[in-house]
Amino acid sequence: MKTLDTFDFAAADGVTATQIHTLARGEWVTAPENLILAGPIGTGKTHLAIALGVEATKQKRRVLFTRAADLLRQLVEARDTRELTRLQQRLLRVDVLIVDELGFVPFDRVGGELLFNLLTDRYERRAIVVTTNLAFAEWVTVFAGDEKLTTALLDRLAHHATVITTKGKSYRMRKRRPPGS
Ligand code: ADP
Ligand code: MG
Repeated sequence: MKTLDTFDFAAADGVTATQIHTLARGEWVTAPENLILAGPIGTGKTHLAIALGVEATKQKRRVLFTRAADLLRQLVEARDTRELTRLQQRLLRVDVLIVDELGFVPFDRVGGELLFNLLTDRYERRAIVVTTNLAFAEWVTVFAGDEKLTTALLDRLAHHATVITTKGKSYRMRKRRPPGS
């Protein structure tokens, strides 16, 4: 479990305490607006996504945390067993859908389209949080090189969105004691 009070803002680059505490109030969930946390590995993206999800549950919001690869697998399985509509309806009832680690595993065409449909369903209705190690220009590589789909998807996702770009070295690496100490 990751919470805001265990997040060390002094050790974070690209994100301010004010910004995150404003988001913790949850107006973006009501709006709804999306949140994109982009940056290198180990810079606190998942920690912040979970912590903001925890804050939203305190405000009685339904929150679902999932890795992008797991979400895609679920969608593909549901499609294969003709349960896609039911899964889509269930996902739509979630106020905050956190999709972690977009970009680690590339999608095929079908996967890209399923994710695109999900984002389209939620567009201006329900909030999405995405964490990713990719810059926007690199997203097309994840979506099977499909420029059109990627552009349309990014357009919807980023239309009403706060984008936080974390920077710097991995927190874990920095906290690790040097060898021999
Ligand atoms: P990312 O998702 O960007 O790869 P994580 O959020 O998983 O990074 O962070 C890696 C680890 O370092 C986690 O255990 C997380 O709790 C911790 N961490 C990262 N940044 C901070 C920070 N600023 N304060 C406290 N813990 C942090
Ligand atoms: Mg992460």
